[in-house]
Amino acid sequence: MSSPGAGKGGGARIEVLISEADLAARVRALGEHITRDYAGRSLVVVGVLKGSFIFLADLVRAIDLPLSVDFIGITSYQGTTTTGVVKITSDLGRPIDGKDVLLVEDIVDTGLTMRYLLDNLATRAPASLKVCALLEKPSRARVTIPIDYRGFVIGDEFVVGYGLDWDGRMRNLPYVGVPRS
Ligand code: 5GP
Repeated sequence: MSSPGAGKGGGARIEVLISEADLAARVRALGEHITRDYAGRSLVVVGVLKGSFIFLADLVRAIDLPLSVDFIGITSYQGTTTTGVVKITSDLGRPIDGKDVLLVEDIVDTGLTMRYLLDNLATRAPASLKVCALLEKPSRARVTIPIDYRGFVIGDEFVVGYGLDWDGRMRNLPYVGVPRS
């Protein structure tokens, strides 16, 4: 698909990888799965900023449980992402001790960001800690992350849209796409 004019893709040609309809169907299924697994309990859904915000907004509406939403903001130090050096720029608003926590991420690439977050959140004594990732790029994995709920497995391609950015833009594309030059 080509974006006419400037549009959401800023004039770049974006090839659709996962359509809006496929995203909606998968998110609905993930929500049903999570609802079944946590039946009778309540959840704290933690979104990793910024990339997860659209996925999280759709996911929580597909979960039929009492839940609260919190966010954690992180940044990877430029040039050292392969070492997994991550800094928390905005911490959770509330303690999570004794809570069932579901960490929601846009994409697990090398896995280093998620490893850091899981280690960090585990020190706060949640009752349980699980991971829900919209996308996984297994070919790029440097560490193994236990992804409990996975949307789609993709290849080694840079993707944008549905919350994922390209230099801060294109998060508002309603599909996941691959920029083509
Ligand atoms: P990891 O630590 O797993 O290598 O990186 C995770 C983070 O890198 C994601 O949360 C996301 O912000 C960014 N990232 C990894 N792959 C992609 C991609 O294909 N597209 C975009 N827009 N961001 C990505």
